[in-house]
Amino acid sequence: MQFRCRQFAAQDKRIGLVPTMGFLHDGHLSLVKIARRYSDIVIASIFVNPAQFAPHEDFDRYPRDEKGDLAKLKRAGANIVFIPKVQEIYPPDFQTSVAVEKITGVLEGESRPGHFKGVTTIVAKLFNIIRPDLAVFGMKDFQQATVLKKMVADLDYPIKVIIAPTVREKDGLAMSSRNKYFNPNQRKEAVCLYHALVFAKKMVKNNKISDPKLLKNRMIRIIKDICPAAEIDYIAFTDPVTLTPMKQIKPGCICSLAVRLYKVRLIDNMKLL
Ligand code: AMP
Repeated sequence: MQFRCRQFAAQDKRIGLVPTMGFLHDGHLSLVKIARRYSDIVIASIFVNPAQFAPHEDFDRYPRDEKGDLAKLKRAGANIVFIPKVQEIYPPDFQTSVAVEKITGVLEGESRPGHFKGVTTIVAKLFNIIRPDLAVFGMKDFQQATVLKKMVADLDYPIKVIIAPTVREKDGLAMSSRNKYFNPNQRKEAVCLYHALVFAKKMVKNNKISDPKLLKNRMIRIIKDICPAAEIDYIAFTDPVTLTPMKQIKPGCICSLAVRLYKVRLIDNMKLL
């Protein structure tokens, strides 16, 4: 992979990278299409990264479909698919990591200790192997995108980071590989995250509520009405870069939430103002 990428670079070809964990849907493919617009060679990677899963999380049962993924990536216009083995990425004596500090201690980082260290380490490795000119990440994982932008800035990677909008199902549920865990009835209830976010955005836009605490309480009610079994991990209103909580909803505010539905943990977010 390194050899091929150095050849492309020697030919002055712009390389765009789209890192994924596979089991691809239209959200992932939208990233490939964006990468295609800004690069000569699009490389998608598929790697279910054990380092970003805690022991009790779903690494072993994370859905995989390599054959289907390859066909989808071909159709979307990827030129190369990089599918390294776990032992290649993490040989037995592997002992180095890359970690972004402060902004990984909140939201997802608070609920999933060690998660972002796993993410930044694998993405740093992919960056070093491929040396892309640009990399595309999804807004769906808003904190991840913010953390990776910070890593790129702090470590002086000469890589342009593009954040792609969230692709949703017809009813508004953000596309996610984990949606396949639901049965049809559960799947219908999973739309509760989206409804709560749309409600919050509408309230803020119409100047009806600007107090995050009030908004949060109303959102909890909406979620529980649609899915009584929902367990809310967090609902937060933060600055998009520093991820500090906002006391009043101000321009730039991102509302993000994590909810556990029938043992499946979903995340979503929306820019409120
Ligand atoms: P994953 O395979 O879940 O690690 O995701 C790989 C990339 O696809 C990440 O940059 C995600 O943010 C992005 N992604 C996942 N779901 C969506 C979606 N529904 N819309 C846009 N991008 C997404």
